[in-house]
Amino acid sequence: MLAWNTEIVILIDDRCALELIGSAAGPGMHRILTTANWDELEHTVAMAGFPEHHLVLRPDGEDDRRIRKGINSLSALREAFAWGRTLSTNGSVCVENDVRAHANPTRMAMIGLAAEDLVQRLVSCCPACGAPGFAAVERVRGLRCAACGEPTDQPVATVFGCLRCAHRDIRPICSAEPASPEHCPVCNP
Ligand SMILES: [Zn+2]
Ligand SMILES: [Zn+2]
Repeated sequence: MLAWNTEIVILIDDRCALELIGSAAGPGMHRILTTANWDELEHTVAMAGFPEHHLVLRPDGEDDRRIRKGINSLSALREAFAWGRTLSTNGSVCVENDVRAHANPTRMAMIGLAAEDLVQRLVSCCPACGAPGFAAVERVRGLRCAACGEPTDQPVATVFGCLRCAHRDIRPICSAEPASPEHCPVCNP
C-alpha cells in the first residue's frame, strides 16, 4: 500500500467574494509498524525518513490514546520505546510517522506545491472581467480512436472558466495524438 498525500490551500477574498483553491498530490510519507524488536524498529524508521520525519509511538496499537509525539532523535525513540513496552499488554508497541505538517517534510514540500498552484491561479485573470482564478474547470472528451476513428472518452480540449462571470474559453489539446484503441468503446467494448 502506498501512502498518498493530497494538500489543499484556500485563499478566501471576502472583498471580491472569491474563493481560490490550490492543490497538489503525490506519494506521502506514512509508515506504521507494530513490534517488540528494537532492531526491526530501527530498520523501519530509517525507511520512514526518520529523524527528519518525526514519529509517534503508542503502547497498544494505533487506537491507543496514550501517545508519545514529536519523536525526532534516536535517543528520544529509545526512551519512548522503553516507555511503550512497559505499558503494552503484549510487549509490542506501535510506531508510525507523525503526519502533522510541521513534523513531516514530505507534507511541507507538497504544501509548497499547492501554494505554487494557488499562485498560478491568482495570476491567471479572466479575459472578460479581470477576476483572478481563471483556470481549467472541465475537459471535453471525444478524442478519435487511432484504429476506427470513433470518439473515445479521452480528452480533446480543456475548458477554462471564470469564478465570477460566465466567460468560458475552450482550448484544444493540440499535442493530442489519436486515442489508443484500448480506450475505444468500439474496438474495446
Ligand atoms: Zn476504435
Ligand atoms: Zn470573468
